[in-house]
This record gives sequence, structure tokens and C-alpha cells, in this order.
Amino acid sequence: MEKKNIDWANLGFGYIETDYRFVSDYKNGAWDDGAMIQDANVVISECAGVLQYAQTIFEGMKAYTTADGRIVTFRPDLNADRMEQSAKRLEMPVFPKERFVEAVLMTIKANEAYVPPYGSGATLYVRPYMFGSNAVIGVKPADEYQFRVFTTPVGPYFKGGVKPLTIRVSDFDRAAPCGTGHIKAGLNYAMSLHAIVDAHKQGYDENMYLDAGTRTKVEETGGANFLFVTKDGKVVTPKSDSILPSITRRSLMQVAREYLGLEAEEREVYLDELNDFAECGLCGTAAVISPVGKVVDHGKEICFPSGMAEMGPVTKKLYETLTGIQMGTIKAPEGWIVEVK
Ligand SMILES: *Cc1c(COP(=O)(O)O)cnc(C)c1O
Repeated sequence: MEKKNIDWANLGFGYIETDYRFVSDYKNGAWDDGAMIQDANVVISECAGVLQYAQTIFEGMKAYTTADGRIVTFRPDLNADRMEQSAKRLEMPVFPKERFVEAVLMTIKANEAYVPPYGSGATLYVRPYMFGSNAVIGVKPADEYQFRVFTTPVGPYFKGGVKPLTIRVSDFDRAAPCGTGHIKAGLNYAMSLHAIVDAHKQGYDENMYLDAGTRTKVEETGGANFLFVTKDGKVVTPKSDSILPSITRRSLMQVAREYLGLEAEEREVYLDELNDFAECGLCGTAAVISPVGKVVDHGKEICFPSGMAEMGPVTKKLYETLTGIQMGTIKAPEGWIVEVK
């Protein structure tokens, strides 16, 4: 397969149209067979449920070229499970798990020419999503839906080396109206856009959201979960019902225990104990782990001793082990790596 003529090493994190996308329609209570199509445009009613009442959900995952030249994806079954939770919460039909995984693999395969080569630092980002497509004017769920999967090649997250992030404690509540914590839905992101634009204006990379009830506990940022490392090397991640259960975070916790022999604990994390941690990172599909150097709480700076200038040692080991598993240089736990070809 001839690869596209793309400058892989200089790709950013943006949308590049690829050749194929998977589409399946839900009508009269059933999903159709679906098909790979070439048209990247979606044509829907001006009154579609997604446009009027934001009935839309999505997932995000990646495909990689391994050191030995295979194309693989990482734990797609967990994305399927989470998308099922999202669909149920937004009164949308579930796209069956086996079909979800099959559609993802088919779409990656069809766009093989866009899967960045091993060692380039770039990957193929995969975006499954679903939206209410028929006209609804009364406030109710749509009757018709479209499930799609598209792909886009994305560049290495850390271009020109890792720069630890500075995060502010946000005064905004994270957009989780009606307790939408465990779903990946467009509305959560739409409601966090103002907070992120405002944070950037003030010179911060991200917002740290606190629990809405007491504003004393750390939740997550707009699009990534927190991981902390204690001074004696234990990995800690916040426990809360309103945090999006990151697949990267769950994988890193297992890597910490089973590959690095570290203790790893999910528990409530209080804002006033951040001073006690040695390292802090943000985890998600996009960057795996981004180191955090500093958290600013209304002028009060909390600096993480290892991690101000570069990734702290435990964060780095976690990062290297998980990316090694994804790129096929470290043996993966059973079921984590699914081969496209
Ligand atoms: C996608 C997402 C994450 C990261 O989840 P991964 O499954 O690791 O990509 C974390 N927080 C939010 C709010 C997200 O939408």
C-alpha cells in the first residue's frame, strides 16, 4: 500500500480529510448494514435533533503502525462500551459493540494510506460518533440517527520536546448538566469552550475542575484525567462519579501495578493536598500523558518538584511503557492490541 505524501513529522493536531468513512443509518427502530463512503459532508434537516437539542455523542481512539509494520488499535472494546453508556444517557439507540469494533477496523483499513509510519511520532486518530438526524421541534429524542467513523492523521503531541503545562483552578463548573460525567457528548465540550478560551487568555494551558458540590476535590480538566505521583512513588488518580472514565488512565493504572510494580490507587483527591505530590500529569488518548508543572489556585502556586522542566521520572516510565505496548515493542496484556492488518 502506497502511503500518502504527507510530512508526518510536521503534522499538527488538526483535521485532514481522508478517503473513506463508515456510515450507518438508524430508521424505523433498526440500524441498516452501513457502508464505506467517500463523501465527507453530512446533509441533514435544518431541524435535526443534533442541531436543535445537541443530541450527539462521540469517541476518540488511535491506530498505530507497530515496530514490525502491523497496523493496530488500542482497546476498541472499551470505546464501544463507553459509547453505549453515552447513547443510553442521551436516549439514543446503541450501535452494537461488535459492529462498532468492526466499523472502526474497516475505516482504518480503508484509510491505510494515511496511517503514519512507525517512528514518525504521528498516529491516525479515529472518531466514531452518532447524532440525531431527523427533524424534532418538540423537546424529545430523535427517531432517526446516523453513526459514523472518520479518521484523520495527527502529529506527535510533544513537538520539539515536552513542555510541562500550567493549569489554573477554574471558577467555572465543568459542563456536566444533569450529571453527565460518564459520557462523551458534544454538549459537555460545548459548555467547556468558554472556560478554555478564558484560561488561554489568562496564560494557562488548561482548567482544573473541582467537584461542584463542595469545590474541595479535584475532578479533571476539559478533556483529560489527572494522575498524581506521591513522594514515595505511589500513583494516585481522583475517584468521582462525574469524571469521564479515561481508557488511558485505566490502562496506566494497570501498567503502574503490573509492569512497574508500583502501588496505584483511585481515591478522592483534595485540592489542599496537591502540595504533597511529587508529579502530576494529564492523561488521555491524544497525548497519553502530558506532564503538569504547576497548578495555580487564585494566585497561589503549587509546583510539582519533579516535572517543572520535563516529565517526572514515574510519569516518564508510565509514558514509555504504555507507548511501547501500543507500538508493539513491549508485550501487551491480553486483548489490549487489536490488529487491523
Ligand atoms: C476523552 C476524555 C478523556 C480521556 O479519555 P481517553 O479514553 O483516555 O481518551 C478524559 N476526560 C474527558 C472529559 C474526555 O472527554
